[in-house]
Amino acid sequence: MNPLQQLLQTEDHILLDGAMGTILMGRGLEQGAPPESWNLIHPEQIQAVHQEYIEAGSRLILANAFGGSRQRLKLHKLDTQVVEINRAAGKIARAAAEAAPHKVIIGASIGPTGELFEPMGELTFEDAKSAFAEQAIGLSEGGVEIFWIETMSDLQEVKAAIAGIRSVCDLPIAATMTFDTNGHTMMGVSPLKALEELLALDLAAIGANCGNGPAEIEAVIKAMHEKSPETILVAKSNAGIPQLIKGELSYDGTPEIMALYAKRVRKLGARLIGGCCGNHPEHMRAMADALSGTAVISTTTTAIYDGLVTTNGNGNGNGRSTPKPARERKFRRKRN
Ligand SMILES: [Zn+2]
Repeated sequence: MNPLQQLLQTEDHILLDGAMGTILMGRGLEQGAPPESWNLIHPEQIQAVHQEYIEAGSRLILANAFGGSRQRLKLHKLDTQVVEINRAAGKIARAAAEAAPHKVIIGASIGPTGELFEPMGELTFEDAKSAFAEQAIGLSEGGVEIFWIETMSDLQEVKAAIAGIRSVCDLPIAATMTFDTNGHTMMGVSPLKALEELLALDLAAIGANCGNGPAEIEAVIKAMHEKSPETILVAKSNAGIPQLIKGELSYDGTPEIMALYAKRVRKLGARLIGGCCGNHPEHMRAMADALSGTAVISTTTTAIYDGLVTTNGNGNGNGRSTPKPARERKFRRKRN
């Protein structure tokens, strides 16, 4: 039995954590600098973030390794330290989980390489597989319990990540994709196509993360749960849509909005619920209260949320998202 199944035997749901990248930006990470570099230079800061999430109620935290592939680290001339950086990420998360008063599952975030596969780009399946294997070596040495492939838009890259991880260890794997382009991933994968392909890969959980906020994720969870009610589904929404205000990235999803989202995706069938970009410990605390039934959500928030869901055309698995300039998209996708 994997750690998710084990915890879900006694729990109705598992609260995941929130963002790492966007929180570090508020704590001095320079714009454009890789959050993973802090595993080596500021491990205490990373551990503090994990700890804040655990205190807020998160029962699964993700090691700070989203951009820890050699392709991503190469952009910062850190590609000779892939194993070291990922091992540190795993160790820091493990230390935080072990200091918790209750069981906290140690996940390992693995994001896209940022490169396109042949023939559109130059990435081959073998290159990608080998990069993910290298990352997985460090993370498994660091002591993670489950791999968490996320923010993916290309099924081939998900498969390369799974193959890479499985070539070096036998830990369980969860995978989520980002359906931010008219209800599909940027590479045109629909929620049901993702479900079908990922179900065949013997994963511990599947679902959706990042993107344009709660309404978009609701549509994905609804479609996946209706098709496969027994699958353990992950919902990890951004805190709404990012806006640049006075040069600072800000998200419009308040903790109360995210609390309502948590309740709604639980009802739609998700059992692993958390937040992606823009979600900080206060959002997770609000989600924890909402999921345990102790939160009171105002009618104003409910009205705002209903407006979001309506404009996103939720309910048909085909929600239309607000088009955004390419630059902003790229910027957003770098964070996690
Ligand atoms: Zn995100």
